Amino acid sequence: VGTRSWWGWGDEEAHLGAEERDGLAALLAERFPGHALSEVRPVDPVAVAPPPALEVPDGLDVATSVDAADRARHARGNAFVDVVRAVEGSLGRWPEAVLRPADADEVERVLDWAAGAGVAVVPYGGGSSVVGGVTPDPDGPPVVSLDLERLAGVLEVDEVSRHARVAAGTYGPAVNEGLAPHGLTFRHFPQSWEFSTLGGWVVTRAGGHFATGPTHVDDLVAAVSAVTPSGRWESRRLPGSGAGPSPDRLLLGSEGTLGIVTDAWVRVQERPRFRGTATVSFPDLPTGLRGLRALAQSGLEPANARLLDPTEAALNGAGDGTAAVLALGFESADHALGPWLDRALELCRDHAGSVTAGPRLTEGDRTGTAEGGAAAWRASFLRAPYLRDALVLLGMVVETFETAITWDRVDGFVADVVAATTAAATEALGSCAVSVRVTHAYPDGCAPYVTVIAPGRPGERVAQWEAVKAAASEAILAGGGTITHHHAVGRTHVPWYERQVPAPFRAALGAAKAVLDPAGVCNPGVLGLGAAGGAP
Ligand SMILES: Cc1cc2nc3c(=O)[nH]c(=O)nc-3n(C[C@H](O)[C@H](O)[C@H](O)COP(=O)(O)OP(=O)(O)OC[C@H]3O[C@@H](n4cnc5c(N)ncnc54)[C@H](O)[C@@H]3O)c2cc1C
Repeated sequence: VGTRSWWGWGDEEAHLGAEERDGLAALLAERFPGHALSEVRPVDPVAVAPPPALEVPDGLDVATSVDAADRARHARGNAFVDVVRAVEGSLGRWPEAVLRPADADEVERVLDWAAGAGVAVVPYGGGSSVVGGVTPDPDGPPVVSLDLERLAGVLEVDEVSRHARVAAGTYGPAVNEGLAPHGLTFRHFPQSWEFSTLGGWVVTRAGGHFATGPTHVDDLVAAVSAVTPSGRWESRRLPGSGAGPSPDRLLLGSEGTLGIVTDAWVRVQERPRFRGTATVSFPDLPTGLRGLRALAQSGLEPANARLLDPTEAALNGAGDGTAAVLALGFESADHALGPWLDRALELCRDHAGSVTAGPRLTEGDRTGTAEGGAAAWRASFLRAPYLRDALVLLGMVVETFETAITWDRVDGFVADVVAATTAAATEALGSCAVSVRVTHAYPDGCAPYVTVIAPGRPGERVAQWEAVKAAASEAILAGGGTITHHHAVGRTHVPWYERQVPAPFRAALGAAKAVLDPAGVCNPGVLGLGAAGGAP
């Protein structure tokens, strides 16, 4: 077990070493000549911690910490701006204490106390939010962070129905460790998997890295248990149901504003052992998108179908920057995948794709150890956030944002969003690199994911980021996309979320908040639902 970083991603032991940082600095100097890279180091949280402005009563009998680094880590999530603010020591509002309940009864006691004492409660899973979801309301009442890490573990497994009941504070690796003795896996791997939790995934409608099929956690949730300030909430696990609006669907995406999820029944699967992979190059992104659409509409359901534009392919060492690259992968617990892969490659060739690696077919055992290339790919995917933090320390601005759009509009949409982002980044930052990958593909559309990297001005990076973020978000909304495909709404996306959804729906959500959380205790401000009952 490593030492959790209070200011950046993951474990301190896994952060980039001096040699890797020097290599990165040399690459940046080559890509952005003329920009002096100023390396910053994180402040000492003890030196900047405001004294707690609230005493949690002993009688509450819930584990409580007021340690400075613990409070600092819980004052923010893991967006680029969070990391910048943390290293610069401008953390804004701090939680007065971090509470770690051991069970649903303790959660209930905290919510009761908070309602009576006028305290806001910010639920905290892994703290990997990139949208201000765990950031205290800057203007509201005093805040405590409710870290759910002690609600952990796989609690029950129904091998017959392939359901598992998992406690909300269980981190990704522990979910699958608990399922492994049953030969099962929870086939849901967001990039933040190592440092995010089952409860966090459920309430943010997280997206895993598989490109097709049940991409979001939504379709993998069979039932949810929660504690709301107005009472306990337990839905019935069913394979499907047409009984009115779904209680689970109200909690999916609720982002801690309606109550605290304590555990959920999720759909699990046998561990895959057959794999098939290949790499295909396309002349450019629009051509690649046509190939990807053909795949997404074929019913083949590849596990991986990640399309990188030429810039992104070059940045990832997957190409020389002259072609778009599609990483294609299939997996199954049940059958060999030769025919699926063959047909997929045929579709790619029909759309001007040329196979540059593979096809490669492997068969492992049911322990999941013989994953080959898939394991290597996943390891580098999980390592990427550490690279982001190293870029932050080198004074860069690094933003990633994601959206989704139907196929009929995709080409113009991507071009417009990239143009608006590039224009804003150039104006705010001088030079920049903007690249696109497509992470998920559906029969009716896809999810483009944009990365912006630029050298920032010391002390001005938050304002520079805000300018780029606003321009990109406006372009997304104007083009008919969603403000988020899987990163959630939090606080950051509220202005665009409010314009994206129908007004009567906003009113209904505000009314649900007023009923479930009448004192406005739960994560006020997130989703635009305010402290006083959340009237939109
Ligand atoms: C490097 C990186 C990569 C990422 N990759 C992905 C990705 O591939 N796919 C994706 O979907 N997202 C991704 N994210 C965003 C983030 O990881 C997800 O939103 C994730 O679901 C959050 O889980 P968490 O446990 O960290 O929740 P937190 O960040 O702790 O909380 C998220 C929100 O949920 C609330 N909350 C948390 N737990 C509970 C609970 N039990 N009950 C009620 N409310 C709760 C919080 O108050 C907050 O509003 C990424 C983030 C980073 C930093």
